[in-house]
Parts: sequence; structure tokens; C-alpha cells
Amino acid sequence: MIDALKFRVNLGAFPTVLQHQFDFITTTLDSDCKTFQVHIRYYCTEDPNMAFSSKAEFDRVCNEVIDEGLKMYYGGELDIDGVTYYSDITTEVTKKQTRNSQPIVLKNQTGDCVGKSNNNVVFPINGHYCDDIQFRYTIAHEFGHAMLIPAEGIDYSATHKGTSTLSQVPRNDSDVANCDGSVVFDLMHYFKEYNENCYENGTRGPPFYLKAMASESDKQTLAFHAEEQIQESSTCGAIYGASCASKNCLDGLKCEPTMKVCVECLDDSHCDSETQYCHDKSNYNRVNKCLDKRRAFEPCDRDRTCLYGYCNRNTWLCGSKGEQAPTQPTENRASVVNLSTLSVLVALTFNARL
Ligand SMILES: [Zn+2]
Repeated sequence: MIDALKFRVNLGAFPTVLQHQFDFITTTLDSDCKTFQVHIRYYCTEDPNMAFSSKAEFDRVCNEVIDEGLKMYYGGELDIDGVTYYSDITTEVTKKQTRNSQPIVLKNQTGDCVGKSNNNVVFPINGHYCDDIQFRYTIAHEFGHAMLIPAEGIDYSATHKGTSTLSQVPRNDSDVANCDGSVVFDLMHYFKEYNENCYENGTRGPPFYLKAMASESDKQTLAFHAEEQIQESSTCGAIYGASCASKNCLDGLKCEPTMKVCVECLDDSHCDSETQYCHDKSNYNRVNKCLDKRRAFEPCDRDRTCLYGYCNRNTWLCGSKGEQAPTQPTENRASVVNLSTLSVLVALTFNARL
């Protein structure tokens, strides 16, 4: 049996974030079989060198603004192969730091605010507060790093889904942010530049922060990767990663016939054709999931993996926009090692800066 529970036992000495799970979230599914109750625990301390104007203001940012940010960017509808679910986010500020609580060091930032917050993954989130709108976005982004790692690996998190380098510089092929309201940004993406319409009074402002959202895939991570989940008693069906040997999977999930675990997709047809592909994770003791198509120079095993439709068969990296090789062979790569030990070690030593 290869499922999340078994995997956790095998790696018991490692932080759960490296076992494809996080321990600061508890998820349950309501009896309506449609609403995930996602309960996030965190713990705030204040950087004495960057103190808030009063204890009341510190408490407001910790208790209210963080709660608002997590609800705003991760709450609401999520889709599993055409079946609509809902994510109802609640938060709890713990009285002390525990294993089951995400630590956050709050810093009251004066002056330039952009690009200072970070999440070192196994250390506290450093959250630089400037104003409420900025901070809701910032804290949701930093929590996003903690969620991307168990779901898709440290390198994918540290490179902001292929939009930044491991040293946190936006890549040349990342997008230009246009804040005219026509685009919803991925909360975790970096941008090589921002149009003027993203700024207010000379700094990146509400037109940008209010136009971002967690991706479908990241919202699903919240629902499916919590360490604590009520699943066995559920009459709704087995959840992602759970056994379907003796019960059906949750509506929208599929029963993988060999391992008998519930997966999001058996092939690409179960994923959004424009934006996603079905990632076969069975080589990594994990289960299949629809993931966002990879950007240029990200690892690939076939054309469908790549945002621009071309997987280079020599390098097994996605091609750039407009790049094609008409004579390329059509076979897919058997498997792709996309998480090298080296990149993990490098990523762990870097701050995952906003
Ligand atoms: Zn970041």
C-alpha cells in the first residue's frame, strides 16, 4: 500500500512538510460532501526592532489581517474535474508555538515595502507589514510556499512555479503584470515587470494585490494535503491519496486501478486542456494530480506538459514561447527526475522572498 499515511510513517523523523503534508492545517469535509472546512493554525511574534505602534495594532494584524488574507486568496470555489467544491477557511491563533502551528514573525515596515517578506520553510515566516491590502497578499503568498512544497516540491516553490530563479530573481520569460483588471494573477508568480497601472503613488498597489488568487491546484492542496483529515468516517467517498480498495472515491476523483488510491486524473483528459496536464507521480510514492503546465526550461516528459506546447527531446525541458522543432521524435520520456538533491539543498539555503 502506497498512500500518504504509509509514507508519513516511513519518514517519521522528517518534518511533515517534506512528506508532502503540512501539520498546521486540519481539513474536514462537511456532510454536504461539497464543502471543505480548512482550519489553519498560526502563531505570531513581533520583531522588537520593527515593533508596531501598539499591542492593539500588533494583535489586529495578527488576528484579523492574516485571517482576511488567507480567506481572500484561498477561500471559495475549487474544481475537481468539473465537480465544484468549496473551501471554507477558518484560522486559529495559537497561544504558543507548537508543532501544529505556522510561526510568523511580524515586522512593522516603514519605507520601501516590496520584496522583503520570506518563508524559509522550516523557519518562521518573516512578514513585513506595510498596509492591510499589501499584507493580505503577502502573507497568503508566504503561506503558499509552505503549501507548494508538500504538493509539488521545494524547487517548484522556490522558483515561484518557474517564474523566478532559485536566487529569487524574476526570469526573463516571466510575464509582464498588467493590472487593467483583465487578468487574475497567480498568487505565487513573479513578474519581470509591472505595467504602470499596477502602481499607486509610486509603489505597487491595490490594482495588483486585488487581482491575484491562489491557483486551482494550490487551493486543492489545502483541501488534500493536511496531516489531519477526517476521511475514514466520511460517507462522501475516499479523498485524494486515500485507498479506494473498498470504497468509492470522492466525486470527481478517480480510482487508480493498480495502486487502488484516489487520484485527480488518470490521463490528460481529466485536466483543463488549456492550462493543465496530468502529472504521473507514481514514481515518487505519490498520486496523480492535474498541475499547471510548465513554463520554459522547466522539466517535461511530453509536449502537453509545457505551456508553450513543446518539450525539447534533447534536454527534456520545456521550450520558449514560439519555439518548435518540427523534426523532433514524438515519443514521450519514460520518467523525469524533477527534484534533484542539489536543487533541494540550494533551495533550502535561500530565502523564498516575495
Ligand atoms: Zn515567494
